[in-house]
Amino acid sequence: MNDRWLGILEVGLSILSPPSCAACDTHVGIGRAFCSLCAGTVLRSTSGGAAFVYGGAMANAITKMKYGDRPDLGRVLGALLASAARIEGVDVIAPVPLHPTRLVERGFNQSALLAKPLAKAVRRPFAPRLLCRVRPTPRQTALDRAERRANVAGAFEVRSFVVGMCVLVVDDVRTTGATLEACESALLIAGAREVRTLVLAEAP
Ligand SMILES: [Zn+2]
Repeated sequence: MNDRWLGILEVGLSILSPPSCAACDTHVGIGRAFCSLCAGTVLRSTSGGAAFVYGGAMANAITKMKYGDRPDLGRVLGALLASAARIEGVDVIAPVPLHPTRLVERGFNQSALLAKPLAKAVRRPFAPRLLCRVRPTPRQTALDRAERRANVAGAFEVRSFVVGMCVLVVDDVRTTGATLEACESALLIAGAREVRTLVLAEAP
């Protein structure tokens, strides 16, 4: 990772970050998301709509946030997302929702943990209940692209007025994009003028 990206990893984190690396828990200086060893494994994504490549320390940090009972990492990773993303002309920012049953199981929605500090950083409204997952969907890990699309088709409903608006939908990881496509479809049907998507990390 070059100096420019190391710099970006530090932007805005001075108040938010814990004194330990988001991936390996090594002590780091105030204002750093990752230790220098882990930062070297974090790759900026070159594809649109994704801030980083899923892998290395970024994958470790996301896994820790979601499954390691570390929702506090959402603020750090959300600040990184805000630093790495360009957001212009967006009217409202909405996270990909979890089904209420899954939300109770996990205790938090990781996409909302990322989208909230992002919305605050770019001064756009944060709408955590704009989208609702109305149908529980099996975990997608073992499914191929076609199966994922069928799995999430019709799973989302729009619960706010979006007619004529540009909506940014935020998720933690994009694999095939099937979930974000289903959200986009629901928003366009509800009258959104434009739907953009942004993820913290995209599977290579
Ligand atoms: Zn580390």
